[in-house]
Amino acid sequence: MNYYSLQKQSPAVSFAEAAVKGQAPDKGLYFPESIPSLPKDFVANIKSYSKDEIGFTVMKPYVAGSIPDEVLQKIVSETINFEFPLVPVTERISSLELFHGPTLAFKDVGARFMSRCLGYFNRNSNQHTTVLVATSGDTGGAVANGFLGVEGVDVVILYPQGKVSPIQELQLTTLGQNITALEVEGTFDDCQAMVKQAFADTDLNEKYSLTSANSINVARWLPQQLYYFFAYQQWQHSGAPVICVPSGNFGNICAGVIAYKSGLPVEHFIAACNVNDVVPNFLQTGEYKPKAAIATISNAMDVGNPSNFVRIMELFGQEVSDLKKIFSSTSIDDATTAATIKKVYNEHHYTLDPHGAVGYYALNEYLSEHSDQKGFFLETAHPVKFPEVVEQSTNTKIEFPESVQYLQGKSKQSIEMKAGFDALKEWMMR
Ligand SMILES: *Cc1c(COP(=O)(O)O)cnc(C)c1O
Repeated sequence: MNYYSLQKQSPAVSFAEAAVKGQAPDKGLYFPESIPSLPKDFVANIKSYSKDEIGFTVMKPYVAGSIPDEVLQKIVSETINFEFPLVPVTERISSLELFHGPTLAFKDVGARFMSRCLGYFNRNSNQHTTVLVATSGDTGGAVANGFLGVEGVDVVILYPQGKVSPIQELQLTTLGQNITALEVEGTFDDCQAMVKQAFADTDLNEKYSLTSANSINVARWLPQQLYYFFAYQQWQHSGAPVICVPSGNFGNICAGVIAYKSGLPVEHFIAACNVNDVVPNFLQTGEYKPKAAIATISNAMDVGNPSNFVRIMELFGQEVSDLKKIFSSTSIDDATTAATIKKVYNEHHYTLDPHGAVGYYALNEYLSEHSDQKGFFLETAHPVKFPEVVEQSTNTKIEFPESVQYLQGKSKQSIEMKAGFDALKEWMMR
């Protein structure tokens, strides 16, 4: 499979090159030259396949020519070696729990797949690749954990001092080895600006082979479609599901749409946003107007210009009317989000995190107008990652899950840094 740049000014490249570069030289996002069609009986008989078989079958066409079958099998099986349960919350709404991986958020899947791909592509090279990534919380932990110990790859994570939750900070700063955490005296936007400047800097690009690890990278984006298939395996109702995805950069939902285009049965997609409502506004007015991100309690979705929306438009041939037949988007404020956590806990004894709560609310609204349909939302992170708002809304204390108990009592190791590119460059050129 080859990948072309959505800016159409750079040549098409292999999966390996797209994964190593991250972004095309013309600054466009890479996009697969064709969307594979899955065999009809594969989808009809999906319950009879193992997770590993599904993962291999779905990913194989995307990496063809870059990764041999036996290596892909191993990469897929290591990527998805935890549970993806579809848990009923009400009679018509289920929660697809994507927080059972090592860092308790769905980003584990993409980060684990991408890290293993880069490890494979680097196997014979003596040049190190440096993954440079800015995080508002979840991305950094997933990337650090995914890349820990991968030969030939160093990871540098920039995070805003005092603005990530305690668990998130421990996940970023206690691993050591090939992972370095830079604690920036600034905001997430400062961190992101520093990373962007680094990618454009001649000196740094001479000294390092730099790549990014956010969802613009095809190796992180594409494997996210797998859990849509795992959910369908567990789907008990007749008729296809309505799927609601809490969305920020729109990488996750775009992966779901690609699964649908390959043959996965879906009734409707809802992109549930917080007050960062560029896409809901676009679908209503036809005008795409990026704006500065507004801080919310579902902070992983505080994105003012979602980078993957261009990929969704590409999947519908840039036709908004075709997109709207299967896809809608809505915006939910913090007060409603917190009230939803409280209501669902009290009425259904299910603890939502703020991102899942945005998804639950949007799905419930949609289903109340479509009385013959059922659906699920993606519970994108474990509530323990957002203890303040969840404990306040439910009036309970959330326990540390066993899988992250080891973090308690560890001490953080970070390098404090002033905001601004100069400080980053000085450190990297040291
Ligand atoms: C990253 C993230 C999102 C948003 O996903 P996108 O792919 O950027 O749309 C939602 N919820 C959580 C918990 C996240 O970490």
